[in-house]
Amino acid sequence: MTSQSGRGGHVRMLLGAYLMGGLPKDDAAAVRAHLEVCARCKAEHDDLAPVSGLLGLLSGAQVPPRLIVAP
Ligand SMILES: [Zn+2]
Repeated sequence: MTSQSGRGGHVRMLLGAYLMGGLPKDDAAAVRAHLEVCARCKAEHDDLAPVSGLLGLLSGAQVPPRLIVAP
């Protein structure tokens, strides 16, 4: 197995920061490149993506009324 990223391995630890836009450009590029070739990290990314989107929505403090379900 050849190393493609040069940083040795999976990027799961970086996915949170990556999705929140908190990674330096070079690291974000490395994560993106790794996701292209690694199904496992891609799956992890796809799991986290909706969560980070939700967090972004909440931190924006603008919840569309249709998301608020009346009892
Ligand atoms: Zn990986």
